Amino acid sequence: MNVHSPNVPSPSSASDTFIIDGVPYPALAKPLQPNWIAAAARAGFDLIGRARDANHGVLRCRTCATDALVRISVIRDATPLCHACIHDRRSRAAKAIGAELIAKCPDHRHYGLFRLPCGHVVRRQYTRVEAAADGGHALGCEDCRAARDDEAARDFGWALVGPATSGRAGYRDYRHQCGHVQSISVGNMRWGDCTCAACGEGWAAKPSFIYLFRIDLPGMSVLKLGYSARPAKRLRHQLGLNRSVSSEVIRVLALSSGNLAVREEKACHRYMRDAHPELVLPKRVFGDAINTKGEIYHLRAEPLLHALIDGVTARSRSAANIAQISTALRATAT
Ligand SMILES: [Zn+2]
Ligand SMILES: [Zn+2]
Ligand SMILES: [Zn+2]
Repeated sequence: MNVHSPNVPSPSSASDTFIIDGVPYPALAKPLQPNWIAAAARAGFDLIGRARDANHGVLRCRTCATDALVRISVIRDATPLCHACIHDRRSRAAKAIGAELIAKCPDHRHYGLFRLPCGHVVRRQYTRVEAAADGGHALGCEDCRAARDDEAARDFGWALVGPATSGRAGYRDYRHQCGHVQSISVGNMRWGDCTCAACGEGWAAKPSFIYLFRIDLPGMSVLKLGYSARPAKRLRHQLGLNRSVSSEVIRVLALSSGNLAVREEKACHRYMRDAHPELVLPKRVFGDAINTKGEIYHLRAEPLLHALIDGVTARSRSAANIAQISTALRATAT
């Protein structure tokens, strides 16, 4: 492959070959008009020859030196673009937010396939990826999000089915443990604030529990602080513990409502993250042995967690009347 002299290709150039996208194209012994060369230069290319047929010229990008077959009419009348440079720009945008551009989307030229930091591959519009990189945002992952929504729902006896059949924004379809499927807002589900239309079982208004649970993983014992409607019964199953793993419910505190239990439990985790991050165990420490994303603590945290639960106990006793009144109000409002 040679760079041809611009205006008058030498006779020998007819035997030259351009390799474009890995495909060889014999150079055609046809002239290059000065106005095409000038137009190509304005767009950032050198017009280096003609190939394929009388309608195509070969442009070499002045930025990345990639050769491309472009219609003469596009070179002359429009602004050609370098697809290699565009691909490079999109790859860099993806990289900036921890993702990787792995392929073009076969069914839409504005979309690419990206591997996210979590490992999932998603289809995204290029302009959105570049906007995310410019704004320093991450790309959301539907699969991870669905896993989080499902995990949150399981605490309340629901399982995520998928997007809401109603199509309503912010809603998902969930299946209640009675089998009934219903559309519920993700925000409400996070707090268990929903009632099954089939069996009428509302978790939020029912008594619930905060529990402290010790799990003896091979080589390491850890603590889990959580809330549940039926802690003793469901804990092992809910946390997906292996048969060989022994566990013990260390403490259970009954509260007047699920909402109260969720709020108090979240406050405890927040306190631990802020004040004692060294006692919070990251997911990579316990991995798949416990089916939860977090809220697992070092065994050393036990006295602190007891003290936090003592605080909840004191608050719930003094607020018992208020909680009952607000629960009753919520029940009548829905
Ligand atoms: Zn280029
Ligand atoms: Zn993901
Ligand atoms: Zn139900």
